[in-house]
Amino acid sequence: MGIGVVFVGVIAAIGITALDPVPVTSSTATPPPVLPTTAQTTTGTATPRPTAPTTTRSAAPTTTRPAAPTRTHPADVRYASEGYQSKPISSPVPWRDPQSISQARTWSRNSVLYSKGVDGPIWCPHDPLTANDSPAVVTDRMTKTVDCLMALWEGSMANSGFDLPRPPVYLVDKPFTTACGRVDPQDFAGYYCTASMALFISYPVVTSRRYDGLTTYVNEVTLAHEFGHHIQARAGIMQGSWVLQNQLSGAAALEENRRRELQAQCFAGMAIAAFAHSYGLNDDDFATILKTESGRTGASTHGNSRSMALWWQTAMGAQGAVVRCNTFAAASSDVA
Ligand SMILES: [Zn+2]
Repeated sequence: MGIGVVFVGVIAAIGITALDPVPVTSSTATPPPVLPTTAQTTTGTATPRPTAPTTTRSAAPTTTRPAAPTRTHPADVRYASEGYQSKPISSPVPWRDPQSISQARTWSRNSVLYSKGVDGPIWCPHDPLTANDSPAVVTDRMTKTVDCLMALWEGSMANSGFDLPRPPVYLVDKPFTTACGRVDPQDFAGYYCTASMALFISYPVVTSRRYDGLTTYVNEVTLAHEFGHHIQARAGIMQGSWVLQNQLSGAAALEENRRRELQAQCFAGMAIAAFAHSYGLNDDDFATILKTESGRTGASTHGNSRSMALWWQTAMGAQGAVVRCNTFAAASSDVA
């Protein structure tokens, strides 16, 4: 059972109820409403590396919010992404599904991807989203972040024999229908639909939590988590895990769901670790992000506070070794 379905991955925002991933069998999709459309046509080259460190951030409006820190994006190291060329969005053939329980187990538990490493640091010299950012700015930032994520993951995926097409990013503000079903942007911050291989960002949610002095890069983390589901989907980890989950029920099924979600969170952590130098993160920022990530809602499907913090910190210390994010090999107590 379960073979042939498509899958949804979602992340809960703070204060937003998580959607449970819902396998559906529809293979058609209505294009969702989008605000700006620039994300659909991204091509060109990677962000140029400056010859000297630059400071590009100014204070956020301060009538009700604290001033944003002034960030420096240091160019004082050699970045692994140097020379990386941004790729256009592509529409690949969907990943096949496992043909047996044994294969589902191998794909999720013993993926060849776990023998690889992602390279860092990655040049991603962007400030976090700030108050009053327009849809165009949010879309531009998310598009640039996808560039950074592609630069991070492309090598290890290719070395594993997996295709990594560039997914489109849709900024959405109204309920919409995808191949994964109908969803409402009020219910999620980020959303990934395997069938359309598309990333969705909720404008209402990112608007409500844009920089307030406590949420450093929180929206970029969300996108990195959803991109983590894209990695899972392209490597067959997602499909393998779903086939296994569909054999289970109750608490065991939820545990399998959490293993998948906590791995996406670990992949997000590896991305932020790789971007940290060019982001200009300091110790306070790391502590703030950890606090935010360990405070997310949706424990039954996504993991409790301790698990969220555990996998985030594991990612921070992984030095790009993907095997450190193999949540499918972890003790049940570490994916609670
Ligand atoms: Zn997720």
